[in-house]
Amino acid sequence: MHGGSLSAIRCRLRRNKNAIFELNNRMPRQIQITVAPHEAALPEVLQQKIAAATATAATALRYRIIRRSVDARKRGHVKILLSIETYAPGEPLPLQAAEFRFRNVADAPPVVIVGAGPAGLFAALRLIELGKKPIIIERGKETDRRKRDIALLCRGEGLHPDSNYCFGEGGAGAFSDGKLYTRANKRGDALRILQLLHHHGADDSILIDARPHIGSDRLPAIIQEIRQTIVRCGGEYRFEQKMNGLILANGQVQGITTETGEKFCGTATILATGHSASDVFELFFREGYLLEAKPFAAGVRIEHPQALINDLLYRRDPHRAFLPPAAYALTTQVRQRGVYSFCMCPGGIIVPSATSPDGQVVNGMSASARRSAFANAGIVVEIRPEDTAPFHRCGALAGLRFRQEMERLAAIAGGGLQHAPAQRTTDFVAAKPSTCLPACSYLPGVAASPLHQWLPNHLAQRLQDAFRLFDKKMKGFLTAESLIAGVESRSSSPVRIPRDSRTMQHPQLKGLYPCGEGSGHAGGITSSAMDGIRAAEAIADTP
Ligand SMILES: Cc1cc2nc3c(=O)[nH]c(=O)nc-3n(C[C@H](O)[C@H](O)[C@H](O)COP(=O)(O)OP(=O)(O)OC[C@H]3O[C@@H](n4cnc5c(N)ncnc54)[C@H](O)[C@@H]3O)c2cc1C
Repeated sequence: MHGGSLSAIRCRLRRNKNAIFELNNRMPRQIQITVAPHEAALPEVLQQKIAAATATAATALRYRIIRRSVDARKRGHVKILLSIETYAPGEPLPLQAAEFRFRNVADAPPVVIVGAGPAGLFAALRLIELGKKPIIIERGKETDRRKRDIALLCRGEGLHPDSNYCFGEGGAGAFSDGKLYTRANKRGDALRILQLLHHHGADDSILIDARPHIGSDRLPAIIQEIRQTIVRCGGEYRFEQKMNGLILANGQVQGITTETGEKFCGTATILATGHSASDVFELFFREGYLLEAKPFAAGVRIEHPQALINDLLYRRDPHRAFLPPAAYALTTQVRQRGVYSFCMCPGGIIVPSATSPDGQVVNGMSASARRSAFANAGIVVEIRPEDTAPFHRCGALAGLRFRQEMERLAAIAGGGLQHAPAQRTTDFVAAKPSTCLPACSYLPGVAASPLHQWLPNHLAQRLQDAFRLFDKKMKGFLTAESLIAGVESRSSSPVRIPRDSRTMQHPQLKGLYPCGEGSGHAGGITSSAMDGIRAAEAIADTP
């Protein structure tokens, strides 16, 4: 046993006490506090709270919020959790922004990147840091021109197959909701993605909020800023160029061909075409390049009045006026399949996300202020290979064919022009047609349709059960005031393009780096962007 005289022990204790005192007084100092929503929203009140917590005079207090999250677990008593750094008078505040070393790569070895979505763009930024020149090939248009096609689509004036909510500069991320939260933290540096977005114009809040959100009104300008960086450094973009083949020599991919007959070659080729690009999967299948079917998810989008969701989650919270529109996440199991809410958009709208005129797809987004009167979320069921049995003759494309069939049926049920088939949620659960529909945010328009009849049986029945179970978890969720619209079929890829886990190259096609959501190895903006960065680093590591 460690011993010593009583006076030696006292002396050690005194030393420890001093050490603790010094630690507490070292600047910057970090504290965690829990405050009521109105306290977090009013800077003077927050200042007083922090001053009290740190025993500092409010007038001398200098602080920075470094993390903010909403704890809504106890309904009616929402709390805001804050991590705060305080600084001594005169002590410089640390720089919020990260610094990046983008090099001039105009004369560097070229790398072809197919697809200007999050995976492709973040791969390009990383290649520039690593001294390689990205040449980005994109089937769609620049964001400004793409916006016009999306406006026409929302007015019901038709869908442009290469310029829509999924295709064009920024990919599916450009007019997405811009929620940046990811669970895939182990697969890369999520903070780096946030810092890069911040560097290109995103609000400071994305570096602080536990659930960062940009909003579809702000994303296009950030994507244009990313283009400025890439072009300024000597990278190149080629818009309205759709890849239709790979150029191969000795089993090594040299580059790609496009529909206009052009060829683009580089020392490596990154395939970041997203999972809406069915034609890329078809190309692989046709040419006999390795592909795998993978589990995915499909279902419908549900929409409620936002005020109702606020009532269900915030109840009589006395500080409701200071809270953001309420968000939910629901999950359950129905007969060995997960059913869960996906991409919940508080204060958002439902948008048409098909990529071909004979298919109908819905998704959701919200502007940065989240001020729409509606709350929507995908409610999707896990689909495993055994659920796609009617399409098994299509091999690795069975899931893709299942998805295409659902989208085709939805287009027929909607009556064309991207009208979405919809049903009152209570009618869907009771398996009866809706005679009229509640108000809905979906702009091309909705058409009443018995989704319970034409959705695949195993999917419809699981959704019906899940809605009943969700209503137990969140009383009032299953209500005649809500509707479901179809189909939510693009939440994840039904196909995986295999790759070596270390080199990230396709096992058959050396020099080809499949990445992002279309590779089946990532999903969502942040994880696809991280995957793009990994592909760029794998290229730089290849001798
Ligand atoms: C409305 C909506 C809202 C969303 N909201 C969120 C959200 O809030 N948070 C989140 O994490 N995720 C969200 N997502 C999903 C997210 O956008 C995707 O996960 C992400 O964009 C995938 O990135 P990616 O780069 O892998 O592929 P994509 O973004 O799909 O980009 C692929 C790019 O490749 C191009 N391309 C395809 N084929 C070819 C070809 N043959 N030749 C040349 N170019 C080609 C496409 O035009 C596209 O630009 C949303 C999606 C939509 C549609």
